[in-house]
Amino acid sequence: VSSKGCQKIRGSQIRDLLDAKRYVLFDCDGVIWNGETAVPGAPEVVSLLKQQGKGVFFVTNNCTRPRENYVQKFSRLGFNDVVQEEIFSSAYCSAVYLRDVAKVQGKVFVIGGNGVYKELRDAGVPFVEEETDVAGGSIYDCPLDSEVRAVLVGYDEKFTFLKLAKACCYLRNAECLFLATDPDPWHPLRGGRVTPGSGSLTAALETATERKATVIGKPSRFMFECIASQFGVDPAQSLMIGDRLETDILFGANCGLDTMLTLTGVSQMDEAEGYKDSDAPDKKDFVPDYVVDTIADFLQAQGE
Ligand code: PLP
Ligand code: CA
Repeated sequence: VSSKGCQKIRGSQIRDLLDAKRYVLFDCDGVIWNGETAVPGAPEVVSLLKQQGKGVFFVTNNCTRPRENYVQKFSRLGFNDVVQEEIFSSAYCSAVYLRDVAKVQGKVFVIGGNGVYKELRDAGVPFVEEETDVAGGSIYDCPLDSEVRAVLVGYDEKFTFLKLAKACCYLRNAECLFLATDPDPWHPLRGGRVTPGSGSLTAALETATERKATVIGKPSRFMFECIASQFGVDPAQSLMIGDRLETDILFGANCGLDTMLTLTGVSQMDEAEGYKDSDAPDKKDFVPDYVVDTIADFLQAQGE
């Protein structure tokens, strides 16, 4: 098979690629950090690209933190020159979508955590206040809010059957919007554990309502549209770097960006080559243009 893609690059090849780009978009988990640990060399890579005058952006499907909280995480992990405006999370972009695109007239019912609530509050989007104690209640005695016009589903460690039941009732109204922060199925945790992702909760609600959610996060194009509208980023001059073929690499392909898989996260080389060798035409958007072992390889590339 001689089709394009999956080109493993190093040294001067990395340098030539970066020289040709003005904008670099980084996925976060699996690319610049894993949980609470920075990928070794990643803070230096980000600083270097910024010193070279490139536009650097962070595109994360993790909706659990508001942007101001991400700024703290960046600096805690040694990324000292990242500002809030460069961080595009699925929670922030969901709030932007509700405010500027859907222009929702009414309240949002949220399945999600603090990150989502805080971004909605900052954007001035009204929502149903999080309930403190829904456990044990019955479907009949939980009140519904007649002003709800959208349901937003994200990662929710306090997900309950009652939240699912309420969301289901709201979505009986065809005019009630159905949004998902991101479609991620699961995420790796420390010690070989995994956690179910937002996508698994959205799937439950999709089944119950026989509707499909509008996805805000990767691989949907909306997060790139947010970046482009705020910074005038040209897709042809941009590189998307991610660790997950089905979200990050597909996102890059959907937005017309060159894509790079880094092997410090979820997807590995054999999966990328499997998509490349597949006959199915819909699999080609999962194939990254380039592959590196780690973004730390960008540092060596400068010396050669
Ligand atoms: N959502 C949650 C709840 C997560 O824990 C993670 C990764 O840890 C993600 C999403 C994926 O984040 P990213 O898009 O930065 O890989
Ligand atoms: Ca990732």
